[in-house]
Amino acid sequence: MHYVPRILVTGGAGFIGSFLCERLLETGAEVLCVDNFFTGRRTNVAHLLSNPRFELMRHDVTFPLFVEVDQIYNLACPASPIHYQFDPVQTTKTSVHGAINMLGLAKRTKARILQASTSEVYGDPEIHPQPEEYWGNVNPIGIRSCYDEGKRCAETLFFDYHRQHKVKIKVARIFNTYGPRMHPNDGRVVSNFIVQALQDKDLTIYGDGTQTRSFCFVSDLVDGLMRLMNSPEELTGPVNLGNPGEFSMLELANKVIEMTGSSSKIVHRPLPQDDPRKRQPDICRAREKLGWEPTVKLEDGLRPTIEYFRSEIQNLH
Ligand code: NAD
Ligand code: UDP
Ligand code: UDP
Repeated sequence: MHYVPRILVTGGAGFIGSFLCERLLETGAEVLCVDNFFTGRRTNVAHLLSNPRFELMRHDVTFPLFVEVDQIYNLACPASPIHYQFDPVQTTKTSVHGAINMLGLAKRTKARILQASTSEVYGDPEIHPQPEEYWGNVNPIGIRSCYDEGKRCAETLFFDYHRQHKVKIKVARIFNTYGPRMHPNDGRVVSNFIVQALQDKDLTIYGDGTQTRSFCFVSDLVDGLMRLMNSPEELTGPVNLGNPGEFSMLELANKVIEMTGSSSKIVHRPLPQDDPRKRQPDICRAREKLGWEPTVKLEDGLRPTIEYFRSEIQNLH
């Protein structure tokens, strides 16, 4: 009989996790989605519940988990600054204790484990674009540190479990990702601008708007995560996954206004502390080792994202 792999996705009811669960089910796998519903929502995976190969479990990864699996995608962690700063101690616990528990699980079951790390490990980068060799410029005691340092410590744990216990690890450094199923109150820039534009409210640019980010559409990102998981065992990473197309927040705001046909104006708000000035992935490694690069241009990804938020806003009324 054909062997059906059992795959655990932590944070599977979140934005990226829900698309990953969907794609994994399409490959014929059994998917166990574990989530504490801090920022994730049941509605993100509601359409998967009728699939007999899908299972949804409420669980917090800071507590041990005993299940039998072949692969683990560790995505559990709030990703938006307003959410990860809401309870910063819990954010660090989720990254660090969560990594220890999932690595302990991988060690016992001999499963492959992939960590959803982040471009935030580069902090406010002094090198542009950022290659994986760059060690970063991170404030250890600021308001973003619970997330940045938590994720850096998780990477350390992954490499130590690999060296010390021979756990099969994969580390992906994910750059800003957007798409449908982002929470409307998520607080990240793409969701904020679209929700504001659709309601003809002012678009809030933090600072002067010259800071840059590089935005990857969620389907491209999920494809990169799955390629990394299924790459040869010796490829541990870290591997940058992101779209090199770089935009200033002013450019993004104008594009969103234009595409939504909104009458919104742009207003400026104070720049949050430690906000990185610029960010762009160097994806040479992903191109070479995974044969991966993003295929969805910003406008093509914004279109379905705008449609998603349009229906979300209608449902609110
Ligand atoms: P998200 O907030 O939508 O998803 C995170 C999920 O993790 C949510 O479903 C949340 O309920 C769950 N979660 C949080 N703490 C948990 C805990 N202690 N136990 C169990 N579940 C918990 O965010 P996302 O954008 O889908 O991000 C997914 C992963 O990718 C995160 O690890 C994030 O750090 C990483 N990442 C995302 C981006 C991005 O731009 N979206 C960029 C870099 C890294
Ligand atoms: N762990 C888990 N599920 C497992 C195996 C381990 O959640 O199937 C947790 C366990 O509770 C421990 C952590 O993972 O706290 C690290 O496990 P490891 O074996 O490395 O450490 P030890 O149990 O020796 O402290
Ligand atoms: N930002 C903004 N207006 C908003 C939300 C965010 O100008 O309403 C800015 C934010 O200061 C940052 C950039 O957009 O410079 C990206 O912010 P986001 O929170 O999406 O991601 P991160 O800073 O974690 O990359």
